[in-house]
Amino acid sequence: MTLTLDCKDIGTNCPYVAHGETEEELMVDAIEHSKEVLDYTDEQMNTKKSGGKLE
Ligand SMILES: [Zn+2]
Repeated sequence: MTLTLDCKDIGTNCPYVAHGETEEELMVDAIEHSKEVLDYTDEQMNTKKSGGKLE
C-alpha cells in the first residue's frame, strides 16, 4: 500500500504530496521536500514557527 502525506497538512499552501511504500519512505520523501521548501522561504518559516516546538 502507498502512504501519502499532503504538504498542506503541515501548514503550507504547497500542493506537494509525499509518497512512500512504508512510513520510513514517506518520511524520507517528506523530509527531502521540506528541505527544499525551507531553503527558499526563510520568511515563511519564521511565520510558521510561531507556536511550533522548540529544539
Ligand atoms: Zn511543500
